[in-house]
Amino acid sequence: QTPILEVDHLTVVYETAKGDVIAVRDVSFSLYPNEIMGLIGESGSGKSTMAYAILRMLKGAARVVHGTVRILGKDIYLLSPEELRKFRWSHFSMVFQSAMNALNPVMTVEAQVIDTLKSHRPHLTRLEAKERALELCELVRIDPRYLKSYPHELSGGMRQRIVIAIAIALEPSLVIMDEPTTALDVVVQRSIMDQIRDIQMRVHFSILFISHDFSLVSELATRIAIMYAGQIVEFTDSHSLEDRMSLHHPYTEGLWNAIPKLANRNIVIEGIPGGPPNLLKLPEGCSFHPRCRYKSEICSAQTPELKTYGTYEIACHHVLDKEGHHD
Ligand code: SF4
Ligand code: MG
Repeated sequence: QTPILEVDHLTVVYETAKGDVIAVRDVSFSLYPNEIMGLIGESGSGKSTMAYAILRMLKGAARVVHGTVRILGKDIYLLSPEELRKFRWSHFSMVFQSAMNALNPVMTVEAQVIDTLKSHRPHLTRLEAKERALELCELVRIDPRYLKSYPHELSGGMRQRIVIAIAIALEPSLVIMDEPTTALDVVVQRSIMDQIRDIQMRVHFSILFISHDFSLVSELATRIAIMYAGQIVEFTDSHSLEDRMSLHHPYTEGLWNAIPKLANRNIVIEGIPGGPPNLLKLPEGCSFHPRCRYKSEICSAQTPELKTYGTYEIACHHVLDKEGHHD
């Protein structure tokens, strides 16, 4: 199978007055057709920077200093601005946290949907575009009468549904979602998550779903990447998380244990002590070692590489020792 998205040794640097900050460090992965991959990490771990780099939307002092991003086999950094404009929305699109920023406040919802459609498919008649707008409403379960509304007349959840409708309007192969439900209350969040899953099963596209919320990600994604201090420290299957936590990265274990488990309200929530490291001055060796309860001498001396364990990849010197095994 040909991947939809191939990220290869991607490294992104922010130039700051105090020096270069490596926000994304040597990240490689592929996303296949119809696959939903989750990307989790604490805030500041580089998740959004990576999303922007993949979308070729980095701004200001951030730039890709190494590596490639291919979408449908095309290196998107080699596209001309015009080619990129055509490629975006038609082949890949994005949904961010703030629906308000993604929508034009002075255009009706219908005008915005039609605009997106017609700017990429100029041969579409007005009537065809209107019909497609109706179809999209049905897909995101919005009453078509709201097509005549302006964004501020809609609730936050409805706005985010419209943003999702626009993101899939041109049937892209890849949608990158960065904290798409974080601004919404829990009930709305849940219904939008169900909807994303439902839409993805009906129209088929790949999703890179970025969130700091491990429980959301693990319900939606089949494969999960865990990011710490700009690096992917683990690739894992979501279904394996429940029972074999001892076989995961200590950071993954910490994030997982920090999820309040509804089924067992008495469980003590174990967070991860300390905070994310200063990216200007990363700890030597494994960046996680100051916070890790499994660390040994080698951890501050040698940076662990991603190694394959069955279907996972984990960058930790002591994964096997965690369960009491030895090399
Ligand atoms: Fe902890 Fe060492 Fe593994 Fe890093 S390499 S996560 S410090 S045990
Ligand atoms: Mg972010």
